[in-house]
Amino acid sequence: MTASVTPTHCPYCALQCGMNLTPVPGGGVAVAERADFPVNRGALCGKGRTAPALLSSRVRLTSPLVRTGGVLVPAGWDEALARIAEGLARTRADHGPDACAVFGGGGLTNEKAYALGKFARVVLGTSQIDYNGRFCMSSAAAAGIRAFGLDRGLPFPLEDVPRTGCVILVGSNLAETMPPALRFVTELKENGGTLIVVDPRRTRTAEQADLHLAPRPGTDLALALGMLHLIVAEGRTDEEYVRDRTSGWEEARAAAMAHWPEYVERITGVSVPLLRQAVRMFCEPGNAMVLTARGPEQQSKGTDTVGAWINLCLATGRAGRPLSGYGCLTGQGNGQGGREHGQKADQLPGYRKLTDPAARRHVAEVWGIDPDTLPGPGRSAYELLDAMGTDIRSLLLMGSNPVVSAPRAAHVEERLRSLDFLAVADVVLSETAELADVVLPVTQWAEESGTTTNLEGRVLLRRRAVDPPEGVRGDLDVLHGLAALLGVEKGFPTDPGEVFEELRRASAGGPADYSGITYDRLARENGVFWPCPADDDGADGPQHPGTPRLFLDRFATEDGRARFVPVSHRPVAEEPDDEYPVLLTTGRVVAQYQSGAQTRRVDELNAAAPGPFVEMHPRLAERLGAADGDAVTVVSRRGRAVAPARITTAIRPDTVFMPFHWPGEGRTNTLTNPALDPVSRMPEFKACAVRLEAVRKD
Ligand code: SF4
Repeated sequence: MTASVTPTHCPYCALQCGMNLTPVPGGGVAVAERADFPVNRGALCGKGRTAPALLSSRVRLTSPLVRTGGVLVPAGWDEALARIAEGLARTRADHGPDACAVFGGGGLTNEKAYALGKFARVVLGTSQIDYNGRFCMSSAAAAGIRAFGLDRGLPFPLEDVPRTGCVILVGSNLAETMPPALRFVTELKENGGTLIVVDPRRTRTAEQADLHLAPRPGTDLALALGMLHLIVAEGRTDEEYVRDRTSGWEEARAAAMAHWPEYVERITGVSVPLLRQAVRMFCEPGNAMVLTARGPEQQSKGTDTVGAWINLCLATGRAGRPLSGYGCLTGQGNGQGGREHGQKADQLPGYRKLTDPAARRHVAEVWGIDPDTLPGPGRSAYELLDAMGTDIRSLLLMGSNPVVSAPRAAHVEERLRSLDFLAVADVVLSETAELADVVLPVTQWAEESGTTTNLEGRVLLRRRAVDPPEGVRGDLDVLHGLAALLGVEKGFPTDPGEVFEELRRASAGGPADYSGITYDRLARENGVFWPCPADDDGADGPQHPGTPRLFLDRFATEDGRARFVPVSHRPVAEEPDDEYPVLLTTGRVVAQYQSGAQTRRVDELNAAAPGPFVEMHPRLAERLGAADGDAVTVVSRRGRAVAPARITTAIRPDTVFMPFHWPGEGRTNTLTNPALDPVSRMPEFKACAVRLEAVRKD
């Protein structure tokens, strides 16, 4: 490796693939394979490969913009920061601190997420902060805490997957969302293991499966209960494990026994023989895993749905044992770290609870403030967006584009427009930035250093490889500048390394303990798994190695036992009826990422995935009179969207699928239902009732 090669990680999804960057004469960087990172071993998807295109893109923002006479015009940094500080200060003076809100993103580094949470609570004194990671995997986080006492996406490294016996992949389309991870399941099969995929669509991932179960959207909770019923009925439970390592089995067992297989078949559309086959495969002697993604999580009963799959693991002794367990395939680049360090409405750094007096004391001491001045928990992401323009009057938003990515997006857009003041920091003029009073142009991944935490709980170091364009500043500089203008001169350093040192202290002793992790170690060791406490004896000696595998001796509950939670089937919040007879489910395509703010501006990705579509079964298309490519209007109780039909037998006839990456008339989230899970406050992106109204023949 030459001195000019910078090993770093992809800016996009939670796999955080390793890559090498080399400066290119004339500007920008080239991406090259980095085989030493075990998660992707050099492989990258198209998004990672083309990520440098946005560094020097002509649509890149390089000057702050301020709204003057109704339009956004270029301005200097001093003026832009002063306008934001003024807007926030005025709101705080007129309406109190909780009228100011902060909204973050799962793509922000740990340092930025930490600084943003601190800024909200210390500088603004507001409880009103949350982030778009709430839309990503919060149901799995809630279910993990409920069952295991701790949420870490995967409690084991991905390299364990090929060595287990059977994997049930629930609502995850790895082939499109994180293609380099597909090799873990193909290697599993090469090793003689089996793959079961649960998905209403026969995706490219489902095509790899030994068994594909295609339940109606929103019924996989019933599917898991039906499997547990059969496991009990067929005497396949691991009695010794249940007795020694769990609690609450009797209640969970009773709930499962109420879901007899024929009843489950009626709910899900999955036949009893297929259900039995899945149980046989999962209960083969040896190890097994269940991995969930957005399918079971983005539901108004997402926490219970994930809980049902966890119960399956516990009843069969497949959690907290080598090469067995439950894991969540987190989606966003730093969705995991983002929620660990204080962006989430109810949390303090180190995955501490904002309601825990000891946690408040610890973090307040690190921050040099009185714990009594720390606000309490605020609203969840959708509830926060829904309150814009009512009791929330001003918003500072970083690294998110809710105008495209939030459910009931037209309503969210209207709420954002009704704010007294909106400031957005982003790299491009996203659809949300277009609404702002002030837009700040900020640095991107290759232009700054910082840490992220991937879906395995592996903390990684991203390194700066190139200088940012003139006129652009880092998010930490923005928070430093705003804090100073709002009267807090200290505590917001611009150097990510300095922020990380403080984060280490703030996380020390918490569930997500990073205190034994340093930038030097991350550079040397290719990442360190949390928890990783610091050695506090001061003597030289071996450092804590980090914790690649959790729960092998005990779970993180008070008694060390995993908790069964009794759960029961309930329907989706909005069942199809005569007026809206079809279910819409939503998701992603391989060439676009989340709201598309970045990837829609990369030519190669746009060529591969230029716009939305409505995937439908030929029988449904025939009823509509639609041919492949015809424009179809999809109508829900919240609005309408238009996109071309894509006709395929890979989807159930009672369901349509739309990817959600685009704004405008094809904006899928105009249609989606913000019905919230009662525990995680996750909206139900995965199922809402729609009708297909008209086919334009032009
Ligand atoms: Fe980047 Fe995810 Fe693609 Fe890897 S799989 S290159 S992390 S977007």
